[in-house]
Amino acid sequence: MDVKALLEERIEDKFIRYCLVDTTSVVGAGKTPSSEGQWKLAGILADELNALGVEGVTVTDKCFVIGRIPSNVEGSPPAIGFMAHMDTVEGVPGSDIRPIIHRKWDGSPIKLLDGVELGLHTSPELRYAIGMDLVTSDGRTLLGTDDKAGIAQIMHAVCLLLKDKGKKHGDVWIAFTPDEEGAGGIEHFPVDIFGAKRAYTIDGGIIGDFQDETFTAVNGHMKVFGLSNHPGTARGRMTNAVHLMAEIISLIPAGERPETTSDREGFIHPTDITGDVEMASCRFIIRDFEMDKVLRREKSFVEAARSVVSMHKGARLEWHSEVSYKNMKEVLDKEPRISELARKAIIEEGLKLDERPIRGGTDGSRLSYMGILTPNLFTGGSDSHSRNEWACVQWMESGSNVLVRLMGLWAEEK
Ligand SMILES: [Zn+2]
Repeated sequence: MDVKALLEERIEDKFIRYCLVDTTSVVGAGKTPSSEGQWKLAGILADELNALGVEGVTVTDKCFVIGRIPSNVEGSPPAIGFMAHMDTVEGVPGSDIRPIIHRKWDGSPIKLLDGVELGLHTSPELRYAIGMDLVTSDGRTLLGTDDKAGIAQIMHAVCLLLKDKGKKHGDVWIAFTPDEEGAGGIEHFPVDIFGAKRAYTIDGGIIGDFQDETFTAVNGHMKVFGLSNHPGTARGRMTNAVHLMAEIISLIPAGERPETTSDREGFIHPTDITGDVEMASCRFIIRDFEMDKVLRREKSFVEAARSVVSMHKGARLEWHSEVSYKNMKEVLDKEPRISELARKAIIEEGLKLDERPIRGGTDGSRLSYMGILTPNLFTGGSDSHSRNEWACVQWMESGSNVLVRLMGLWAEEK
């Protein structure tokens, strides 16, 4: 596309173009990016950034797309980064996506293929989107709002900044990243070539939401060992590891599971289990918002498990765990203006600020500990990782306006 067409293009056209590329990531692929489609999207994005005249456009050997718009103000305000991830989650079909635009949606249920339905009964937050233009898939696939709405917002914001030289900004760094959905891409983030130490991921939810707090995450792997014997002669000789693991899992209180908790409540969650009489293995994820809480939760669970095992002849337990990511707030609190200016930009844009902690992690929760402080702004859609996934065109536009306004606020900082 030529530069004029790109500059004048509607955000929905950008968004749909990115959605059409299958970028499903593959956990356990053993390489970054984990799928070929991410190279394809990276190529498209790099070409567009180059066509627009963005400087230093690079696609790294791990498929990170990086670019920069130089400052247009006197002095040296802090460089700011905007990031969004290119991959979509596996487990929901992500190829042959056929987006549908529902113009001026009237609030009635949207019926898609394969019995997929979307409406106020499935997603109450859609009540704020009545009268707007919604984008969905046709029901056979996910749409890719997570996170192509983030990419579209950034691209549209780049166009707004380049079109209107009157918009003040310091250095703007752009990064489109691979493999956010569980495949560990962010570990390879090119911190050395990205010139900003303060950034925002655009990977949140509905209009106005902002997040600078994530879970602190412990991932654990438990093995319990029993004693095998012929079932006919097992009395007094067999210890069945399957029963041991079942007993251990039953120790998790009903009220401390993902399916029964919300807001700031933590949980223990067995994610997969295999086993036989001699050995049973189960992986657990343990989540809370504070490090000491998550470690306490882990300790009391493992102690209880050990006491179960100690009551059975010949039984033994192994537990290995690691901190997978930490609540970004701990480091973001070192420079509160990063969050404050984001809140201000949302409010000055006339939007209702909606702040709640993320019950999960973002790339920012790793990046913030890698030296780039990175809270999270809204994408303008929701129901990620599902066939009901949707995006609101006007909300994505508002998102781009927030980014431009945010750059204006940073332009006045030192
Ligand atoms: Zn995402």
